[in-house]
Amino acid sequence: MKIALDYDGTYTRDPSLWAYFLGMCRSRGHEVKIVTCRKPENEIDWLGLNEGYRVPVLYTSYLPKRIYCDEVGWQPDVFIDDIPEFIVRPDFQKFIDTFGAQCETAVESKKEVPSSVK
Ligand SMILES: [Mg+2]
Repeated sequence: MKIALDYDGTYTRDPSLWAYFLGMCRSRGHEVKIVTCRKPENEIDWLGLNEGYRVPVLYTSYLPKRIYCDEVGWQPDVFIDDIPEFIVRPDFQKFIDTFGAQCETAVESKKEVPSSVK
């Protein structure tokens, strides 16, 4: 299973919990990556996690996480996030209601939803 773990407000909320979680995931063969909306220059702090337990970090630079992951060819099966709206566009539900699930690229994610559905 591929698991996208949020950093700010999720990992940071209880690093010891996630250290245990990352160890369990590794031992069970699951692939975990930190997926954060941060820019790469705003590097995360592992907050004491031993280097051997660390996982790759994907910095989306404010792109919606699912869209970014699709673009880099890594599709998580599960997202763990304190603000799930960041996985998709903030107005994603309105977008889905209007257009269906077509928000597949960064360009799509930046399209304006017509004011009639806001
Ligand atoms: Mg967060």
